[in-house]
Amino acid sequence: STLADRLTRGLDSVSDTVSSVFREPVLRLGVTGLSRAGKTVFITSLVANLMDRGRMPGLLAAADGRITAAFLQPQPNDTLPRFDYETHLGALTAEYPHWPESTRAISELRLSLRVRPSGLLGGLQGPRTVHIDIVDYPGEWLLDLGLLGKSFAEWSQDTLTRIESRPEAAEYLELMRAQDASAPLDEPAAQALAQRYTDYLAQARAAGLSDCTPGRFLLPGDLAGSPVLTFAPLPPLSKPARKSLWREFERRFEAYKSRVVKPFFRDHFARIDRQVVLVDVLGAVHSGPQAVEDMRLAMRDILSAFRPGTNAFLSRIFRGRRVEKILFAATKADHLHHTQHAQLTALTEALLRDARDRAAFAGAETSALALASIRATTEETRTHERETLNCVRGTLLTQDGQRGKQAAFYPGALPDDPGKILNPARDGANQWLEADYEVMNFAPSLSTLKPGEGPPHIRLDRAAQFLFGDQL
Ligand code: GDP
Repeated sequence: STLADRLTRGLDSVSDTVSSVFREPVLRLGVTGLSRAGKTVFITSLVANLMDRGRMPGLLAAADGRITAAFLQPQPNDTLPRFDYETHLGALTAEYPHWPESTRAISELRLSLRVRPSGLLGGLQGPRTVHIDIVDYPGEWLLDLGLLGKSFAEWSQDTLTRIESRPEAAEYLELMRAQDASAPLDEPAAQALAQRYTDYLAQARAAGLSDCTPGRFLLPGDLAGSPVLTFAPLPPLSKPARKSLWREFERRFEAYKSRVVKPFFRDHFARIDRQVVLVDVLGAVHSGPQAVEDMRLAMRDILSAFRPGTNAFLSRIFRGRRVEKILFAATKADHLHHTQHAQLTALTEALLRDARDRAAFAGAETSALALASIRATTEETRTHERETLNCVRGTLLTQDGQRGKQAAFYPGALPDDPGKILNPARDGANQWLEADYEVMNFAPSLSTLKPGEGPPHIRLDRAAQFLFGDQL
């Protein structure tokens, strides 16, 4: 290694020592949610609002003016990609603002805040530095936890039962049935099966279904094309021969669990202190009862990862520590007029309660709210055939991602009782948010942001207060 290399490494270890001497607190904040739930936009807007000391009145330390500086530092984890904050903010604040690229894999960003102590000590002590290590990772990866307790035969059985009657899976099932799984492995045939199965997962996601394992098939990161991702469920087989397709898929499934799933949980997940789980509740409601039911089950599975007591592997890696706070947040609330926000919050709370009733979170504090990380709309009340409608107005994105015309929409109304959405069987399968919701694909509009303003949002500051306000 070069001298410069060694010097920087020397400096690193000095600064490590210095920070451990002064015990600057480090809080690891996990941000997760299924793909397109809004993780990238959430982190970008949160950091931008804190760096600019923008619109954060709900974050008490910010409201009190005690945050004297906010800056980004090299993250402590040398082997994780850095969350590409500058590029994402650049997309949102460009002359023609557009949404940034979504989360594809795990990444990390260290945001450091200089904070003046509150209360009596405030005058006596100097400011402290609090580091917030934001860890962004796909919620799909959490769903893989359920695989750890299953053999390949069990996982195959469960999966095939579930997808049997799904139209999205027809092509995969046809290909699978044409295979002789007891014949020796043929790599091109294995790849074709894995590819068809991945296509099924992608279509199921597009249809709003959430129970899509293995999670890495959809978001492979740098594992794309590797053998650990080249398998698929197969029907049971008695005494499959060594080197048969079945045995090889079984081996790869086991490798997926031990080489992909376990390291993620051990090295990253088990070190998280606070967690926000973002959910596109409105998107699921719009897609219909099947998507809502699916989201409910996926959230239950995701949240069960926060209950280490019930899973031997998790209890081992958590070694008695736990995630202290979990926020469950419905995103994109700017699609609804604020008169509907209470209903959206109630629905989100009901979803959380449903998962919590089954899984007491071992003392973790939980909360639910509805937010918009970036507010892309304004509100407007219109009269239509003597009826007043509470609308939202924004700039539409065209099919090819260009900025289209401005328009006001009425997305429909959510029921006061969330049970009507969560138990469609009890209340008759109703379609909610059917009106204009489909076309409400708004562009962000931040190009006129002034320094010190921070991107407009809804309740992002309340989310921040719950997640780390107590540490500031
Ligand atoms: P990720 O896959 O979880 O990282 O999701 P993103 O953060 O990339 O968000 C996915 C898409 O949802 C974005 O491209 C936006 O179209 C939309 N979106 C996310 N957050 C908001 C929000 O606060 N308001 C609005 N109107 N749209 C949002």
